[in-house]
Amino acid sequence: MPTQGPEAYEDDAVFDAPRRPDSTALTVVNRLEAERPFFLKAQCMHCDHPACASSCIVGAFTKEESGAVVWDTSKCIGCRYCIVACPFQVPAFEWGKALEPRIMKCDFCAPRQRDGELPACVERCPVEALTFGPRDELLRVAHERIKRSPGKYNPRVYGELEVGGTSWMYLSARELAGEALPKLGTRPAPGVSESIQHGIFAYFVPPVALYSLLGFLMWDAKNGPREGGE
Ligand code: SF4
Ligand code: SF4
Ligand code: SF4
Repeated sequence: MPTQGPEAYEDDAVFDAPRRPDSTALTVVNRLEAERPFFLKAQCMHCDHPACASSCIVGAFTKEESGAVVWDTSKCIGCRYCIVACPFQVPAFEWGKALEPRIMKCDFCAPRQRDGELPACVERCPVEALTFGPRDELLRVAHERIKRSPGKYNPRVYGELEVGGTSWMYLSARELAGEALPKLGTRPAPGVSESIQHGIFAYFVPPVALYSLLGFLMWDAKNGPREGGE
């Protein structure tokens, strides 16, 4: 949960240039259009076949049943292969930390989820732009909305197929691939250490009932910006 009051987030200057998550900001919100308030929240996508996990030679990463891709800092040897392997350029290294620098990224609020709580960003979003639930159910809802209002949404849900599917997905008024988010194929991204693992490499097989998070990014040309449910 944020430790600062709302006034700490009122400086719009942060939107002047696009940002990426880093070791101190595990999620960032970027403004996609200067004239119109159209925003995208970026963080770890919690891939169903995480390249960070397949690149990590010490097996520090785990994909949990909740959908969260988490990692064990006590196993980490600081090789930083996961940084290179991630197709979304998410894992960040604590370069400024002299003692025991760690890899940092959004952990899908895994500890909260284990306690039966929602990810903090979902709980805190005042316009319900983020929805958490079983992946299949979120995709069903997203495609129903696209079918019901074809002119309102881009027909593709970003993350449904990218790199084999992700646990964070976006339903948006416009195409995000190649614009706000990378344009990627449907095959899982290989880990950079695949070639040095001499055959022991295998893609992670996720559990069947993954949970996911769907972000709604809408721009209604007539009525202005909309985020959240209908
Ligand atoms: S977005 Fe990157 S860090 Fe996150 S699970 Fe996928 S490969 Fe790993
Ligand atoms: S830096 Fe990344 S790939 Fe290397 S050991 Fe640590 S978690 Fe694994
Ligand atoms: S899931 Fe948790 S760690 Fe990830 S962006 Fe949301 S609040 Fe931050």
